[in-house]
Amino acid sequence: MTAGAITTCPSCSKKNRVPVSSKGTPRCASCHVDLPWLVDANDDSLDTAIDTSQLVLVDLWAAWCGPCRQIAPILQRLSTEFAGRLKVVKVDVDANPLTAQKFEARSIPLLKFMKNSHVVDTVVGAQSEHVLRTLVERHLR
Ligand SMILES: [Zn+2]
Repeated sequence: MTAGAITTCPSCSKKNRVPVSSKGTPRCASCHVDLPWLVDANDDSLDTAIDTSQLVLVDLWAAWCGPCRQIAPILQRLSTEFAGRLKVVKVDVDANPLTAQKFEARSIPLLKFMKNSHVVDTVVGAQSEHVLRTLVERHLR
């Protein structure tokens, strides 16, 4: 069981804990706006982490991967911009071989867009913020 992530409310700056898995949408305990939902999942929690009605972006990364570090702040910003509609699920492929295998993560960063636990799009390699935002918008339409 993982503890989730601490997220600062973009509206009132209160720190909230967002769960790894939830059927609902995490909202700020103080001002009730939708919170950015970016969490770390592992082999055990992946299935429940992607089980949400929101668009899911799975980020398969590793600590040694430079391009992964490059897109990390972009994913952070997108999770804030699309709070309530987009969930970012980060998985360290070195620590989670089953997930790496499931998504055939031979080259990283590897991004998987998912709806209702099904992959709807795959992005290989680091992309610009513009490209990633356009993809998110397309899949939210
Ligand atoms: Zn708030």
